[in-house]
Parts: sequence; C-alpha cells; structure tokens
Amino acid sequence: MNQWFTVSLQDSTGELVPFTQPTSKIVCVGRNYIAHAKELNNPIPDSPILFIKPNSCLVNLPDGVKLPITSSSCHHELEVAILVGQQMSNTLPEQVADNIAGIGLGLDLTLREIQSELKAKGQPWEKAKSFDGACPVSPFIAYNKKQINLDKITFQLIKNGQVTQTGNTNDMLFKVTDLVATISQHFTLYPGDIVLTGTPAGVGELHSGDQLVVSLNDLQWSTAVI
Ligand code: ZN
Repeated sequence: MNQWFTVSLQDSTGELVPFTQPTSKIVCVGRNYIAHAKELNNPIPDSPILFIKPNSCLVNLPDGVKLPITSSSCHHELEVAILVGQQMSNTLPEQVADNIAGIGLGLDLTLREIQSELKAKGQPWEKAKSFDGACPVSPFIAYNKKQINLDKITFQLIKNGQVTQTGNTNDMLFKVTDLVATISQHFTLYPGDIVLTGTPAGVGELHSGDQLVVSLNDLQWSTAVI
C-alpha cells in the first residue's frame, strides 16, 4: 500500500481542488532570512544552503504537531511552502511561477541541540531535521500568479497567544523564483514536491500543550502540540 503523503489543495474560497500527486521530497533552505541567521550566530550565505527532508516527515498541521521523544529541544521554524505542480529541472527563474501549483505553510521542526552537536562535528543534519513528523504542512492554496505576489506573502506564528514569528517573503535573501530555479539545478522537482523557503527570526522551543495559530496572508489555521 502506498503510504506517501498527498497534500490538500484548495482554492481561495476553501473548495478542494483535485491534486493527486504524492510528495516525493521536501527541499529546504537554511538561513534565507538575515535576521534568523543572526539570531543563531550563523554567517550570511552567498548561495542557498539546501537540505532535504524525506516525505516521511509530512503530517497535516491542523491535525496536531507531535514532538519526537529523541530530544527535548524541538524548535518551530515557520516557513512559506511552495507546492510543485510540474516537473522542474534546470528551470529558469522566469519559468518557475508557471510550474507552481500552490502556496502553503510548513513547520521545519528542528531538534536544535542535536543539530548543534552535528554541526560541531561536521556531520549531516538529518537526525535533527528529518525525523518522522518533522514537517507539518497546512492545506495549500491554488497558486495564481495574477492574485498572489510571491515576493509579498506575509505569514505569522502565534504561540499561546503571543506573536512569535512574523515574516514577509520580500525579506528573503534568495527570492522564491530564484531559489526554486537554483534548487532545480541540483535536484529535479516532481509534481507534489514541496519547497520550504526558510524561516524568519523568532524560532523557539515547542512544548506539549502549546496552542499554535499560523497565518498566510489572510488565511489561518489552528493546531496544538501533542
Ligand atoms: Zn528551516
């Protein structure tokens, strides 16, 4: 039986749009917002720092965020998520928008203490970033380039009533179309794949019982940490 996760896609009125392509991978970028790179004392990169989460990380954000048992230091990183609609390989930045199916939000859950240990040893980040459930995603909104400006998407995480992360894609170091084009030079993006575009400042620990509200432009979803 195929257990691969398939995102939910809807139009701006909330009507479901048929989308049947399961996600094969999630491509992520580190340090794409200067304020976040600074809060973790990381240097500003001159090209995108890319890593991949497997599709076993995916869960529906509104169904709840389950913390792993391997570490007590699980950080939220709220990010704009791009849903790939058509295959991209060596795609030019000006062609990217035509190949996007939807826009949503993802949490790039990160076991910060484990990541710091791995970084110090020069080892890959997967144990910190790629555990089961490490990428809760919202439903996606069908992308229409006349209605959604990829460089003016606002998003926010409210944790237990406090605004914790606020972002605007205009503050990205590598903007969506350039970022996706660069990714497509390294990895073929298939329909259903997801690109997480980096987190703004304000990352912090999640704890069982936390109540979360995430918003994307004028839409919002609620969830809880289990
Ligand atoms: Zn991230």
